[in-house]
Amino acid sequence: MIKNANIHFNHQGTPVANDFDDIYYSDDNGLAESYYVFYQQNNIDTRLQSHDQAHFVIAETGFGTGLNFLNTCQHFTDHLARQQVQKQLNYGVKRLHFIAFEKHPLSVSDLSKILTAWPEFNLLSEQLISQYPINLAGCHRLEFNNGTIVLDLYFGDALESIKTMSYPRSGIVDAWFLDGFAPSKNPDMWQQSLFNAMVNISKVGATLATFTAAGFVRRGLSDAGFTMQKVKGFAHKRSMLIGTLKHTNDTQSAPSYFNHDVSPLSNVAVIGGGIASSCILYSLAKRGISSQLFCQDAAPAMGASHNVQGAVYPHLQAKNSPHSELFAHSFLYAKRLYKQLLNDGFSFDHSWCGVLQHAVKQPLVDRHENLVQQQLWPPTLMRNVTAEQGDTIAGVTTGYSGVYFEQGGWVNPPQLVNAMLSAAHCLSPYKSTFNCHIEQLKKTSNGWLLFSNGKQFGPFSDVIICAGEHSDAFAQTKALPIVGVRGQVSHVQASEQSTKLKTVLCHKGYFTPVYLDHHCMGATFEKNTKSRQVTEQDNLSNREQLLNFYGHCNFATSLGNITAAKAAVRCSFIDHLPMAGEWAEQSDYLTAFANLRLGKRYQYQALSKKQQGLHIFTGFGARALCSAPLCSEHLISSLNNEPRPLSERVSQAIHPARFIVRDLIRNKI
Ligand code: SAM
Repeated sequence: MIKNANIHFNHQGTPVANDFDDIYYSDDNGLAESYYVFYQQNNIDTRLQSHDQAHFVIAETGFGTGLNFLNTCQHFTDHLARQQVQKQLNYGVKRLHFIAFEKHPLSVSDLSKILTAWPEFNLLSEQLISQYPINLAGCHRLEFNNGTIVLDLYFGDALESIKTMSYPRSGIVDAWFLDGFAPSKNPDMWQQSLFNAMVNISKVGATLATFTAAGFVRRGLSDAGFTMQKVKGFAHKRSMLIGTLKHTNDTQSAPSYFNHDVSPLSNVAVIGGGIASSCILYSLAKRGISSQLFCQDAAPAMGASHNVQGAVYPHLQAKNSPHSELFAHSFLYAKRLYKQLLNDGFSFDHSWCGVLQHAVKQPLVDRHENLVQQQLWPPTLMRNVTAEQGDTIAGVTTGYSGVYFEQGGWVNPPQLVNAMLSAAHCLSPYKSTFNCHIEQLKKTSNGWLLFSNGKQFGPFSDVIICAGEHSDAFAQTKALPIVGVRGQVSHVQASEQSTKLKTVLCHKGYFTPVYLDHHCMGATFEKNTKSRQVTEQDNLSNREQLLNFYGHCNFATSLGNITAAKAAVRCSFIDHLPMAGEWAEQSDYLTAFANLRLGKRYQYQALSKKQQGLHIFTGFGARALCSAPLCSEHLISSLNNEPRPLSERVSQAIHPARFIVRDLIRNKI
């Protein structure tokens, strides 16, 4: 688990790390030093105007107080303002991407205190403090100023974090702020292995700047591949180091069968009208990418996203699996996004009332015990509660112990989808076509054409299929191994006793606090049916299931009639993970990666893609509220050649080729 830094303030009021006996920034003029050493010596201002991409990527070792980050943001904001005045909107950098690694994060209270010393950054500091992550290792994606600034804040050791990252052969970093305490005080960080890893994720021409002029640092960076130079240091300091990378070392994080290639994204068709597609449209809109929405229903969120109350909480395991990592980070990102939408004035009914998972059977008691003993999850994410504590949280008496997700809650999914679509439209207007059932997709030399009822749409550079259970309806995607699970949720009238419930309860299903005089109770799980028909039998099953676990509780026995219900088919895959990436055509894989049948040591051929530009984004099951927003960022970031928020192992776990690769390795195809 990540531990916070222990700090004190020296006589000048500068924060000092107790464990390293070193200051976070210069006593004299921390801001001026940050500007000179890192920003100026990397020549950022000039490069923002002439860069060959719309985003510029800075990576920093040691986020500390965020002073370098905030200072850079301020200068970047000035750059955007100058661009506006000079009407140079068609070229130059429009988005800043800052990656920072931090092994011992400051506590949010220490950070807030420190940042009061820099009132000039108040607007940005407030955004930083309100989004500052909990102590969970891995990448936390934070966004500032409507997504024009992205901070991927990795909690964990810099080298260990780089090793987990997902990155392409061309690299991702344009400039390095090589900070960290003085080499003599923090020798563990200033290692050759870190310098080599920095090169792995750098682009050709990447620069670096560091305050130190230590000979071993200069030699180490030079051995790693940077052309190094000593220059004048800040103020009275004699020297510091800068460097440039002439050649990359041609590494990428994934084996070639799990590549995420870039795509043009010049004009994107998005098929589907639920949470998944609204997340994709929002991710595209933040980047100013032109898109068009196609939905077969008359309005958004008529499919699996049409529940009245959907629970939002992460599905965590007692081991540090890709599954748990995906859900923990996705949940935290989704919460930040939903809060941001609300702050921006978009509304949807919701309550961050927490989610209490009850140990309704002995195996669950053991499982919950195990979850906590592993100490993988910060208590602010998930904590064990005794029956007494749980009942106090819930406001009703059940007698069950459990685990509590204090940041969880419920949202109204259709309202959320509409809010997200409106927010996307405000950022970058797009066209929506409802009542439009796309029957056919055709790849032409000009791009993708979509056909519906005798009408043709396109060409589009890319098509993203977010059509849930219908995602396999196209000739190209019929091999998609979707597992459709029908679920019915019943709406039951509240009673005086049930109104006391203050949090979402999860047993085998879920039960929500009162909303519009009703509770949501469900859901049923039925495989191999595509019927959306509500059935009386399923309403009975839902009540029966609730009474099975809560028959001794008056909140459950006093409930009124079931007045309505919703049924839908959730799209999932056999491994309970979603799918995000370019469509993987089995015949292409069989040709390129035939040698996988012999083992992983053999050479592969280049992958030639028949369906290039066609992407899959589905399989979120009943968990899209939690996992779709971050997966959407991962997909669009990869396609747009930006840093990716998910680690390599999670990226592989949700890759569309995973089932094909598995079958090839097992010699099954
Ligand atoms: N750049 C920071 C700022 O703007 O406030 C100041 C950085 S402070 C001098 C050094 C930071 O590096 C500390 O926050 C420390 O916890 C962090 N650090 C030290 N060793 C590290 C490592 N191996 N990996 C990641 N961060 C590390």
